[in-house]
Order: sequence, then structure tokens, then C-alpha cells
Amino acid sequence: MAKKEDIVETAKKVAVKAAEAVLEKASEAVAEVKEAMQEAVKEATTPVITPEMAKIPAGPLELKWTNYKNHQKLVNPANKRRLDIIVVGTGLAGASAAASLAEMGFNVLNFCIQDSPRRAHSIAAQGGINAAKNYQNDGDSVYRLYYDTIKGGDYRAREANVYRLAEVSNSIIDQCVAQGVPFAREYGGLLDNRSFGGAQVSRTFYAKGQTGQQLLLGAYSALSRQIGKGKVKMYTRYEMLDIVMIKDENGEPRARGIIARNLVTGRIERFFAHAVVVGSGGYGNTFFLSTNAMASNGSAAMQMYRHGAYFANPCYAQIHPTCIPKHGDFQSKLTLMSESLRNDGRIWVPKKLEDAKRLQAGEIKGRDIPEEDRDYYLERRYPAFGNLVPRDVASRAAKERCDKGYGVNNTGLAVFLDFSEAIQRLGKDVVAQKYGNLFQMYEKIVDENPYENPMMIFPAIHYTMGGIWVDYELQTSVKGLFCIGEANFSDHGANRLGASALMQGLADGYFVLPYTIQNYLSDQIGVPRMSTDLPEFAEAEKHVQEKIDKLMAIQGNRSVDSIHKELGLIMWDFVGMGRTAEGLKEGIKKIDAIKKEFWTNVYIPGEANHLNNELEKALRLADFIEIGRLMAVDALHREESCGGHFREEYQTPEGEALRQDDKFSYVGCWKYMGEDKEPQLIKEPLDYEFTERKTRNYKN
Ligand SMILES: Cc1cc2nc3c(=O)[nH]c(=O)nc-3n(C[C@H](O)[C@H](O)[C@H](O)COP(=O)(O)OP(=O)(O)OC[C@H]3O[C@@H](n4cnc5c(N)ncnc54)[C@H](O)[C@@H]3O)c2cc1C
Repeated sequence: MAKKEDIVETAKKVAVKAAEAVLEKASEAVAEVKEAMQEAVKEATTPVITPEMAKIPAGPLELKWTNYKNHQKLVNPANKRRLDIIVVGTGLAGASAAASLAEMGFNVLNFCIQDSPRRAHSIAAQGGINAAKNYQNDGDSVYRLYYDTIKGGDYRAREANVYRLAEVSNSIIDQCVAQGVPFAREYGGLLDNRSFGGAQVSRTFYAKGQTGQQLLLGAYSALSRQIGKGKVKMYTRYEMLDIVMIKDENGEPRARGIIARNLVTGRIERFFAHAVVVGSGGYGNTFFLSTNAMASNGSAAMQMYRHGAYFANPCYAQIHPTCIPKHGDFQSKLTLMSESLRNDGRIWVPKKLEDAKRLQAGEIKGRDIPEEDRDYYLERRYPAFGNLVPRDVASRAAKERCDKGYGVNNTGLAVFLDFSEAIQRLGKDVVAQKYGNLFQMYEKIVDENPYENPMMIFPAIHYTMGGIWVDYELQTSVKGLFCIGEANFSDHGANRLGASALMQGLADGYFVLPYTIQNYLSDQIGVPRMSTDLPEFAEAEKHVQEKIDKLMAIQGNRSVDSIHKELGLIMWDFVGMGRTAEGLKEGIKKIDAIKKEFWTNVYIPGEANHLNNELEKALRLADFIEIGRLMAVDALHREESCGGHFREEYQTPEGEALRQDDKFSYVGCWKYMGEDKEPQLIKEPLDYEFTERKTRNYKN
């Protein structure tokens, strides 16, 4: 029989254990409550941007823009001559804005990095530009273009802006035709259209596979006319390195100029203007490998951000499904095969894993696989839209097949885009007429004839829907600083439908900014031209010079590109097509380490006061590192999957994106709080007044 003391001792132990367990549970509960309270406090104290602050006009959706134009303030012609506007960028957004503002009578100073405005990245755009003309009589309308764009963006865009975009889309086509842009025409002479992803109508106007080039030539001719008339002063091979802020009589800082580096001489120069407009393009090159032009960068956006302009939705990055797969480690560029190819090309992988393995080993070609053994997975999964599902859906579906082992090239990271059926149906000549230059480009890069063997494609970083936050007037949260084109957070929500970027850039430049900027400038007519000798200009120039000196002094062991490539790999692996909380946290740590490595070990040859490509790249990389981190921070906080932002924790059983409308239906804006400090979140709620939010469905 157990002794009494033993029993007491055991009972004591049991009691202590039980008490410990209760304590543990209690402290867990306390921690949970504490966390919930912190979340609630955070939620309650997160600043909010109201529709009034975003200057969204009241009234019915279809009358907002008309009402705005009827009541906005204007600047009379005599006063326009007294006002200077800086436009940074000569892509479709910048060139169209500079030409329009000059034509209206303002004095414009226009800057670009390239040696000619015509070389802006916009020239690369291939597929087309959307407009709701309904030339095909297939049921299109302004409302339908609006609806497709809102839905395609996964209900994360502002209703009023998207409606305005759809409304002015038709004017863009008229404007460009009047300029002589050679859009493709049908046999009878009418403008032709083709279909792009996310739409069931044909509304895409195109000029073979060179739409961006032809549109840019149109904008460039309008710009050249104003350069000839002396209304635009053109500064090519100049890179803006900072924005100059000067306080007004109420102590409010306003954008009053820029500091730019002459890329040929290395000289730092100062420029004054009454307002600054930035159309500097997207930041997709944060990933190193992307379809963007090599000079595309996010530095102008970061300069705006550091001066108080909010960076909105940085994590929304579009991965384009039809790019030529990566072929080696020494590659610096990825090539897009236009989405227009999805009109006639059919996407597939083998049904059988053994066929995929033989393709990967190079033992067979795509054409050797019989029809019954091909899996047209987009047509199978999304019968209503088939190969024309939006880009985010098509990209994830390709990744899913490749992750399961069905990839068709040596890396296992490619799917087929096959024209054999189209060639049979239409004939080789018709296919060549429509897509000839793209086929030629493919053959030159891959060394394989796409008429004979299906093309291989894989998703790649292509477009950034995130960017600088702007109100309905395209003004940032900084007075006098406007942002247009891909550089702003734009009208595409979490995913851009194909052929909508050209539409947005030209809408901003030709038809929106020329109105809205007057509302700001009408109060500025009494502001005299300011001297660039003012201390604010001197101070801004000093900061720029110090940054350059700091970079030049490092003289480390790593080339700029080698560090950029490492950043790109981190971005692709941790902030890429599929993101997780764990991966994003890891990614942030790695980006912080890259930042340290860059600022202690980069090597920039040559001198600062000469032409120096490596210095240019280093200055841009310093900002890509910051943007990469901001993207990861934003992606981590957005606990949902929407459009180009896919969090693996939030998906349906079929692997589709799962939004959390009750928690994340807002624009996530980030405010700069200082070097190495965490940015502050500010929300612009997206209350859908006119559109019912649905789960996106491209199946039926
Ligand atoms: C390969 C490819 C194909 C595409 N095809 C299509 C398509 O078919 N349809 C469609 O709608 N969209 C398409 N897009 C997207 C579209 O081309 C871009 O979103 C759009 O052209 C961006 O125009 P932008 O004027 O905003 O900027 P960009 O054309 O990128 O111009 C940026 C300008 O800013 C200047 N700049 C940048 N930083 C500075 C600085 N610090 N100082 C001075 N100047 C600066 C540059 O020199 C340049 O002039 C495509 C994109 C790619 C990559």
C-alpha cells in the first residue's frame, strides 16, 4: 500500500502539472487577446483615404467625368503661357501628355533617359490597344469594357477611374487615326480588331505586332511639332535623380522642380517648373529578368515616395503567360510573345508524364505527340474563355502543369503554344500576315521554326499594376506632383487585362491630365518662375551628389549586375508567382542582406562626371532593392489572393485565387517613414457602389 506522504506528493505533482497547464493555456489566451487587441488598435489607427480625399466626383458613374469637366477650374490662354510644366518620360504617357500640354499653351520641359523620345519602352508593346468602339458588332459597350476591366483586376480598382478609362478609350482611337497611326484594317478598309484575354468581344486595335511602336510614333510626331514650335524643350539622355520641394506661403511643400543628371557629360543640373508630371514607366525590372526594356526602372517612383507620395499596391506585379522561356544563366532579358497569339494559338502540355519526360530529354518534339495525347488544359479548365483567360489565370495554370512535371523543354519550365490547327484552318499565309514578325522573332531567339513545331512559352514578369498613388486628378499625395501611365497605381486593380496599358497611358496623357492639371494650376498663376539658385535646389543637388560620391567610393568586388541578378532570383523565388507568409518573411531578410552587400561591396568603374553606364545602373539598383522590399512587405500584409498577387495559403480547392473582400477590399498605400524604417500603411477603401463583386469565373 502506498504511503500517505507518497500519495500527497503525487497529488501535489498532479496539481502542479494541472496548474501549469491551466497557466499555459491562460497565457496563450492572454497572448491571443493581446494580439487581437493590437490588430484592432492597428486597424482603428490606420489612416484612411476617403472618396473626398481621392477627389472622386459624386453622382452616377457614367456622369462623373462629364460633371467633373463641366465644373473644374480652367487656366486662360494668357496665363497658360506663364506656367511651366516638367514632364518626366516620353513613353506613351509622357509623350502624349507633353504634346497635349504644350498644344494647350503651357511651356513644357520634357525629359527621357534614351537618346530619342521614340526609344521609350512603350515602343516594345506588341499586341494592341483596347477601345469600346464595337466595330465588330459583337455586343461591346463602354460599360462592358469597364466591367471586364474591373472584373479582370479582381475588384481591386477604383470604379470611377475605370469607367472614365473605358469612356475615353474611343477618343484615343480617333486621335491616333487622325495622327496617321497605321492600325490594321479589314479588306473593306475598316479598322480591324482582335481578342485579348479576359474579354468575350473583339475590341483590340492593333498594328501587326508593333502597336506600341506605331502609337509612339504618333505621339512623337505630335511632340515633335511642339518641339519645333518651341513649346516643348526636349532633354534627351537626362535622368531625373530627385524632385525639388519648396514650401508655399502656408508652409505646404509643393513639387517645384527636379535635379537631373546629363547622362552624356555626367553633369548634375537643376530645373524649375510650376508642376512636375512623372510618366516613368513600371518597376518590373526589380526581378532582373523581365520583358521590360533594360532601362526601365523604379527610381523616379522612389524619389516621389521619399518625398511623401504614397506607393500603392506595390505587390501587384503581372506575370505574362506567353514569354520565351529562360534559356541560360547569362541571360539579361526575357522576350514577350504577344498575347494576341492566344487568339489562334492553342496552349497544351502532354497528357502523359512519360511524353513530358521524353520532351525534356530532347528525344521527341511537340509535333510527334498525337492529338489524343495532348492536354489543352486552359480549354479543359475554363471552357468559356479557353486560351483567352486573363494573364494571371493562364500563368498560374502553366506553373501548375510544370510543377506537376508536364513541362516541355529541358528545364521543365515551358508549355506549348501551338498554331497547327490555325494553319490548317486559315492557311500559313494568313497566320504569317497576322503574326509574321512575332514568329520571326521567336525563330531568331529559339532557333526553331514555329510554323513546323509548336512554340514554347513560360510566364515572366511583365507589368506592374502597383505604383504611385494618385487621386482622380492624377495628382499624388504631394501637391503639384502628378503621376501618369504605368508609373502610377493605375486603373487595373490587381491584374491588368492585355491591351489596357496603352489605353491607360494614352488616356492619362491625351485626355485626362490636360483637364485635371488645370484644376491645380489655376491656383498657381500668381506664382512667379523661381530661381534654381534657391537653397531648396542647392540642398537637393547636394543630396544627389552625396549619394553618387558614396556609391563611387565603395569600390568593392561585385558588379552591379551580379547583385541585381541575385536580387531578381530572391524576388522570383520568394515574391514571385506563388507567395507564402513564411517565404515572404525569408525574402525580406534576404533583401536586407542584399542591401548591405550592395552598399559595401559594389564596384563601379570609371568616373561620375562622365558617361558611366555602371553608375546609372547602380543608382537604379539601389532603388530596386527598396522597391523589392516594399513589394514583399505589401505582399505579406495582404492575406488574400487576388489577380497578380497569389498567396498560396488563400486558394480554393481547385487552386483558384481566394479573395478576402471583407478584409482587403482597399488600396494598400505605403508612406515613407525614413531610411531603414518600416513604412506606414494607409488604406483607401474600395466601396463598390455600382458593380456587384463576384468570384471571378472564366469557366462558364
Ligand atoms: C514587351 C512588352 C509588350 C507590351 N505590349 C503591350 C500591348 O500590346 N498592349 C498594352 O496595352 N500594353 C503592352 N505592354 C505594356 C505597355 O507597353 C507599358 O505599360 C506602357 O508602354 C508604359 O508606358 P509609359 O509611358 O507609362 O512608360 P514607358 O514607355 O516605360 O516610358 C517611360 C519613360 O520614362 C523615362 N524615364 C524613366 N525614368 C526616368 C528618369 N528618372 N528620368 C528621366 N526619364 C525617365 C524613360 O526614358 C521613358 O521615356 C507591353 C509591355 C512589354 C514589356
